[in-house]
Order: sequence, then structure tokens, then C-alpha cells
Amino acid sequence: MRVSSQIVKTARAALHLLTARGLPPTPENYARVYREISGESTMSSPDQEVSPETPLSVEQKLDNSRELVELIRVLVSAVSEQAEHLAVDLDQHSRSMRQSISDLQQTDNKQEIANLLQIILGTAQTLQNSVDEAQREITCSRQMLDHMREELQETRRQLLLDPLTGARNRFGMEASLGQEIARARRSEGKLAITMVDLDHFKKLNDEYGHEAGDLALVYFAQLCRAVLRESDTLYRYGGEEFLITLPETDVRGATFMLERLAQMLAKSPLHYKEHLIGLTFSAGLTCLKEGDTPQTLLARADAAMYRAKQEGRNRIVVDEVAT
Ligand code: GH3
Ligand code: MG
Ligand code: MG
Repeated sequence: MRVSSQIVKTARAALHLLTARGLPPTPENYARVYREISGESTMSSPDQEVSPETPLSVEQKLDNSRELVELIRVLVSAVSEQAEHLAVDLDQHSRSMRQSISDLQQTDNKQEIANLLQIILGTAQTLQNSVDEAQREITCSRQMLDHMREELQETRRQLLLDPLTGARNRFGMEASLGQEIARARRSEGKLAITMVDLDHFKKLNDEYGHEAGDLALVYFAQLCRAVLRESDTLYRYGGEEFLITLPETDVRGATFMLERLAQMLAKSPLHYKEHLIGLTFSAGLTCLKEGDTPQTLLARADAAMYRAKQEGRNRIVVDEVAT
């Protein structure tokens, strides 16, 4: 499919402007200069206009990433069209070159020889120029595409992470829980999952303030990472609720991990100003069974966690299916 040369021009101009201003080709920067050049008004209304310092919502980041992906598509098409043009150019010129050489072989008229040589030299020069220009353009496009690919990877990574705790977010969980299940099934392996919810967190916020609450979440995530294996994944499922997936782990192994986590929390309360804040959690634990979907697995872990709350908190409840 041919892309409109105007779009390619605008896309190239946007990238050149980014480079000239020394801005990294992030989806956000690209979206801004692309609109500036194409004369489009920004999608958001003026009162929604955000300064570069304002953190963007996941939806805005996704919108910007989509636009960058669209630009990559345009540039890739432009590069492939350019290669096509170059091939046609080369073909035409080499045909005319062959013709001139054959004419040259058939004449002994000095003036004609001089003219033909002039034509051959001119054609060779044009050929050289076409190749040089195409090479410059393709190298430049390739460098830009490499940059954009890196930026997109970074944006994708950020989209999947919770900025406060560094755990994967709900969006990240939805993107990978199905894959984890499929992987466990392929290797006929085990997969344990546990829903962990901090106890009386509202009270902690009320007593010590929201900042202390935030620090407690960060601290908890750090302790989780300390006891988890590399193949385990921590997700922030909601406010003070975390999901942990443990591949190649049975209920016994996962219980052992949760008990260690509870011991660490009991031994090391959070230091906040002059306070020592004790944290406990309630966990619901289950493991992958035949016919499970992400939803059924989550529902069982959640129900077990709810029982842990009902039975008095600060405990681990193993779902009946898993026992
Ligand atoms: P339970 O033991 O039954 O789980 O009680 P709880 O107080 O932990 O549960 P509840 O659902 O009643 O309250 C959760 C609280 O977590 C309320 C909310 O303000 C707080 N919270 C959720 N997300 C955050 C956050 O990002 N930062 C802070 N500081 N607090 C949060
Ligand atoms: Mg709670
Ligand atoms: Mg909760």
C-alpha cells in the first residue's frame, strides 16, 4: 500500500524537528511536534492541555504510543518505496548505459565517441547520486526507527508497571497471567498464585497519613521481592492488594514463601518518622487446575483471601481445590 507523500513528509519533518530540538523521540514528544507541523490542534481541549511535567494517564500514553506505531509504519513503507524507486532508477540507468556502450563499440567517429563517453559519464554520475541519496535517507530512517523502537519498548515497560511500588500493575497482569498459565500447561508444570491484602490499611492511613501508607506499600513490595524467586512475579492488583504468581511451585512451596514474608514483616516494622508501624497481611492461596482460566484462578485466590480476613486476618488460607 502506498502511503501519502504528504504524511511521509510530515512524519519526517516531525522527526527532524525532534532531532533539531534535541528531544528524544518518545511517543509524547513525537505526538506534540507532529501536531505542531501538521497544523492539527491537540486532541485534548485547551483546559485539558498538560505541561510536559504533568504525568500522563495510561490512556494518553497508549494514544501517543499508537501514534508512534503509526509513524513507524509510515516510515517503514516509505523506506520500502524508496528501495523500489531506487531499483527502477538503477534499472533504467543501467539499460541506457548498456545502450551507450553498445553504440560506442559500433562507431569509430571521434566526435560520436566523445559524445557517447559524455553520456556514459553523466549516467554514471546520476546513478552514483541516486545511490548516495537513497543510502543517506535509508540510514537516517533506520537510525530513527531504532530510536523509536527503543522508546516504544521503554513506554511498554512503563505501561505495565505500577509507578509507586515498581510491581507490575493490573494492566500488566492482564497481559501476562494467561501466558503464565499457558506456559505452565505446556511444561506440565505447576503454578501457584496468591492474593495478598494488607490488613487494616485504612487505619494505617488514618493514623499516620497517606504518605506513611504509600511508604508501607513500597516497603511491602520490597520485602516481597526479597523473598520471591526470579521467576515469581509480583503484581499490584489494587490499592493494598497484591497478586503473586509462582511458577514451578506447589502449595507447600508457596506457603513457605508467604510464611517467610510474614516473619520478615513481624521482625521488621516500617520506620516512619518516630513511629514503628507493624504490618500484617491476609493471603489466599491456590494453584492451577485443569480447565482453569485467569478468571477462575483469580476468583479462587480471592475467595481464599476473603476467608483469611473473615477468620481473623494475619493468616494464610489455602483454597480447598488446591489442598
Ligand atoms: P482489611 O484488613 O479488611 O483489608 O481492611 P483495610 O482497611 O485494609 O481495607 P479497606 O478496603 O477498607 O481499605 C483499604 C485502604 O487502602 C483504603 C485506601 O485509602 C487505602 N489505599 C489504597 N490505595 C492506596 C495508596 O496507593 N496509597 C495509600 N496511602 N493508601 C491506599
Ligand atoms: Mg486491606
Ligand atoms: Mg483491599
